[in-house]
Formats: sequence, C-alpha cells, structure tokens
Amino acid sequence: MSPTAPDRSTVLLGTPGSRERIDTPALVLDLDAFEHNVALMAETCRRAGVGLRPHAKTHKCSTIARRQIEAGALGIGCATIDEAEVMVAAGLPGVLITSPLVTDGKIARLMQLVSQGGDVMVVADHPQNVAALDAAATAAGATLRVLVDLDLGHHRTGVAGVAEGVRLAREIASWRALRFAGVQAYGGHLQHIADHAERLAATRAADGRVADLVRELTAADLAPAIVTGAGTGTHRMNASGSPFTELQAGSYIVMDAEYGGIEYAPGEAWPFRPALFVAVAVTSANVPGSVTTDGGTKAFALNGPRPRVASGPLAGAPYEFSGDEHGRIALPDGRAAPALGTVLECTVPHVDPTIAHYDAIHCVRGDRLVEVWPVDARGRRP
Ligand code: PLP
Ligand code: MN
Repeated sequence: MSPTAPDRSTVLLGTPGSRERIDTPALVLDLDAFEHNVALMAETCRRAGVGLRPHAKTHKCSTIARRQIEAGALGIGCATIDEAEVMVAAGLPGVLITSPLVTDGKIARLMQLVSQGGDVMVVADHPQNVAALDAAATAAGATLRVLVDLDLGHHRTGVAGVAEGVRLAREIASWRALRFAGVQAYGGHLQHIADHAERLAATRAADGRVADLVRELTAADLAPAIVTGAGTGTHRMNASGSPFTELQAGSYIVMDAEYGGIEYAPGEAWPFRPALFVAVAVTSANVPGSVTTDGGTKAFALNGPRPRVASGPLAGAPYEFSGDEHGRIALPDGRAAPALGTVLECTVPHVDPTIAHYDAIHCVRGDRLVEVWPVDARGRRP
C-alpha cells in the first residue's frame, strides 16, 4: 500500500495543549487581545451611533466574522466572491462585496448566492457592469442590491465624481432586476497616513466629496440608505462628523506592525492590541551570532515593516528573510542561541496578506492552545 497524505482536517483541528508546542510556522491568536479588539470597535461604533460592517479581507475566517456579528456588527465586507461564498455558506448576514465583479464567471457565482437566498450586495462603478448585473439577475429571476462605488482619490475603483455617481445611481435604479442600495466611499490611501493631523485633514476633505454625493442623490430622490467606508486608520474620524452610516474597518481585529507605526491620536496610544503573531522555530544554530528559523518569505507578508521577535528573551530582535522557507535572527550582543526547536513568536508586518498564507489560526489563552479556527475563505476557486 502506498503512503497517503495526512488528513488535513485533523492537522487543522489539532488538539488543545501548550502554546509553545504549536508546530511552526503558524499563526497564533491571543484570544484576550482579540476579544478586547472585537468589543472595543463594537462599542466605539455603538457610542457614535454608526453601524459596523467589518471587512473579512483581513481574516478570511467565518468564525471571526461570526464573533464580529455577535458583538453587534450588521454584516461583513468581502473583497472577493470567494470570501462572500464562504460567509454566506456560514449563514452570515449583510455580506457586501466591496470590489466590482465584472467577469461572467464571478457574476454567475454572485447570482447563484442571491438566488439561494444569500444576503449579498455588491458595488459597481460603471454602467456597463451595471447592465451586465441586471442581465444576470433577470436571467436568474433575482433582485440584486447594488451600491455606487465613489473614488476618494485612491484611483483604484469608483466613479470619478458626484455627477458620475448620480448618473450611475439613476442607471442602477432604472434596471428592473437591480435596486440602488447606497454609496461606498473607501479611502485606502488615507488609512496609513502616519501623521494624525494630516490624516484628519485628508479624511475631512474626502468626507466633503461623500457629503456632496449624498446631497445630490437626495435631491435626485435617490437618498442612499447605506453610506459605507473607512478602515482602521480613519475609523474614529469617520465614526462621527462624517456622512457615513457604517464603517468597514478590518485590521483593528488583530492589528499589525504597519498600523502600529502610525499615530493614533496626539498623545494617545492605539487602543487596539496586537493580537496575532507568527510562530517560527529555531532550526539551525551553527553560525555564531545568529539562528536560522523555519519562517521565510512564505510565512509573512512582505509589504509591511520587517517582523521582530515579539516576546521572550529575544524580544525586539529584528527578523531577516533568508529565503522562501527560512528566516534569520541576529542575536543581541552576548545572548546565547536558543535551543533547536525553540518557538519564537514574531510580530505581523501586514495582517491581511500574512493570514492569507495559512490554513488555520491557533487560538491561545495565556500559554494554552484552546482552539484552532480554519481560515476557510482562503484561496480562490477558479
Ligand atoms: N474596506 C475596503 C474596501 C478595503 O479595501 C479595506 C482594506 O483594504 C478595508 C475596508 C479595511 O481597512 P483596514 O484593514 O485598514 O481596517
Ligand atoms: Mn491591509
């Protein structure tokens, strides 16, 4: 009999046990910090009287999305049809796909979700896409809710301005199988402006564009029921004094080194705690002054600050990539190399693309591994 691959589901589920015995490289989620973050954002929005539809692109995990909804979120943002399919299958409400779906295959998958009773909406930024959505919805005998996506200056997606936004909303409202559901205005270029005053000024300027569109839509008898946007970087600015009815923040759930490096507010530290770490193990220690680990460029996102050791005797030591499968940690002066197999937990450079490398999130409470959650919306179906 030929050997068979291990059943991945048993690998995924693991067994509760010790935090330091989690096999590496692995994602480690500190549940106390995570639960603090979930509750704090929910409370911040509740107090400001604004809705929260957190973005699942951060975690791609329906278990986390459910926790967010149980804490009061009105739905969940999805970047892709794959994420939306997983969230709908998990029975989650209020799924908003925040990027236009334009290929026939993805539109067909969207219609399948809607026809099956999935609570799904999508954004659009072009009349051609709107016509295609109507044709597909008509063929499926379904009704689809569509939001106008407004470009706030990032120049990624969205209509260019107020006149184009009103025109597109009219277009959506005119098609039989579509309903105009509101406006999305996400300023991706605003979220990581490091200086608070600069970020606030740019956010208020963008708010002005959103408010102009809302006013003109209202005058055209198309008052948007939903005005959605904002990430972690601008969430507090957009929670009050902005035209938004709901926020789409995502990264706050675990934070990352990228957000840790920007100013939250003058004299104030970030109230969200770093909750996620990448655990790597020492695999070689033959070179004086450094050790090699099993976490290389496949274990961390590369579009963020370099990882550091997060805790233990080597806390703060910077991480170097040493190829796809290996990392290197320079030992601080005089520090002895940790034993082979020692697990080191490292900071996460940029959360979304780091989580997307892994099948599972290992949840710890103190030094105990208590649960393993699948990153079930990971990957793409062709
Ligand atoms: N909404 C949209 C459309 C996004 O693209 C993103 C992230 O890129 C978010 C919300 C979440 O933002 P953040 O992770 O900065 O909180
Ligand atoms: Mn991100």
